[in-house]
Amino acid sequence: MTNKQIIVDKSQKGEEYYLWEQALGQLRKVLPDHSYQTWFMPIKPIKRKNGTMTLSVPNRFYAEWIESNYKELLTRVLGNIDESLSSYFFIVEPSPPPATPSDGKPVKNSGENQAYLPVNQPVDERYAHLNHRYTFDTFVEGPHNQFAKAASKAVADALGNTPYNPLLIYGGTGLGKTHLIQSIGNYARLQGGSGRIVYVSSEKFMVDYITALRNNRLSDFTSVYRRADLLLVDDIQFLQNREGTQEQFFHTFNELYQRGKQIVITSDRTPKELQGVEERLVSRFLSGLTVDIQPPNFETRVAILQKKARLETLEIPDEVIDFIAQNITSNVRELESAMTRIFAYSSLTHLDITVDVAKKVIRDILGVKKSKIISVDSIMKTVSSYYRISENDIMGKNRRKEIALARQIIMYLSRDMSGDSLKSIGLRLGRRDHTTVIHACATIKEKIDRDPAFRSQINALKNQIELQLY
Ligand code: ADP
Ligand code: MG
Repeated sequence: MTNKQIIVDKSQKGEEYYLWEQALGQLRKVLPDHSYQTWFMPIKPIKRKNGTMTLSVPNRFYAEWIESNYKELLTRVLGNIDESLSSYFFIVEPSPPPATPSDGKPVKNSGENQAYLPVNQPVDERYAHLNHRYTFDTFVEGPHNQFAKAASKAVADALGNTPYNPLLIYGGTGLGKTHLIQSIGNYARLQGGSGRIVYVSSEKFMVDYITALRNNRLSDFTSVYRRADLLLVDDIQFLQNREGTQEQFFHTFNELYQRGKQIVITSDRTPKELQGVEERLVSRFLSGLTVDIQPPNFETRVAILQKKARLETLEIPDEVIDFIAQNITSNVRELESAMTRIFAYSSLTHLDITVDVAKKVIRDILGVKKSKIISVDSIMKTVSSYYRISENDIMGKNRRKEIALARQIIMYLSRDMSGDSLKSIGLRLGRRDHTTVIHACATIKEKIDRDPAFRSQINALKNQIELQLY
């Protein structure tokens, strides 16, 4: 085959290409970004024959990892796209030749399919992987994230010269950790300078480490990570129970720290909750500054939605923005996705964007469970029987401590689980005002954070409520 033919062949996208595009679309929806990017982006579709799809992976490690972690998901997704696709098959694209013992130097990697990148590329180009959308300017500030944002800015302004080293940002999913950590990188990058900015998810860090080990190229690995001037490691919780990678990270950390280089880490749980991460590593994390991001309050949710609408130049009526902000409460990613869908919906149907359109979209996002089946009534039933308090008392005016608490718990859980608006929750619980519901939610949230026994009570209640659905 001549070169020309190869090029022609490659430019013709076969069926497998389109199938794989669809599969990626589905995988992207269900996987955390870092997992999707680490494991599925590097895969290439090779061919589809009858019920089997052949996929290429950069090395055996990928194939093994996917087999043990994502086999069921991948099989299901392929089946969803095309019923007759029942299996897949991995091939590994050519590995680099083994290191030559004669000179002892690591061998350069020629294939573009390698997960591990050649050393002689400028590191910040290759490894920064920064999304330009994620800047401090586009990050809306509110009481829930003010401290985290201020600390991030301080760090970005004076790299390595603040006492905030490492800076550890933690918070639930979809609350802006990746946005913030990448803002630090983008800010530093825009300041110019010759510093090497390395942004990596801890999952990718692990893959790079293991790939380097297997290919006998550990020195390349260390030269990338240990020569960073700013190391941004996202989603550190992924290192739980991965001792080898933790060890490697520990050394990277120490080396950078000793040289006064800035390290920023994010985690979706508190350092204390990072079980399966070595103590010495956790205590390193805690030696700088730890900041948290909480779910945004109503006003901030509105501000975020307004900012997104402006960025996309979307015209969305205030009442629709209010409605979304009232119903999607715990996750900024879901807020964004509501906006995107509402806009898509209205541009496809040419209908005005109304609260009704928003309702439809939100029902989709929150899923059947939250919006349709779990009602305030069923929550009230479960909670009142759990605390042996009558529903009449809950609805009535009695302020006895136990009754008031049960009432507040119902409000909190309704807010969390039913998808009803504050207003309708208040109405259902004895015609109470929505500000009473807001107050109840804050009170219960605070008690949950403070009191682990109470938290497990609430979790038990949630489980009961969910179980009643079946
Ligand atoms: P996490 O990493 O905590 O799971 P992300 O940083 O990926 O969350 O945030 C999810 C989405 O929400 C991103 O598109 C991000 O830009 C957006 N987002 C989160 N917080 C804010 C904020 N305060 N202002 C603007 N956008 C935000
Ligand atoms: Mg993230």
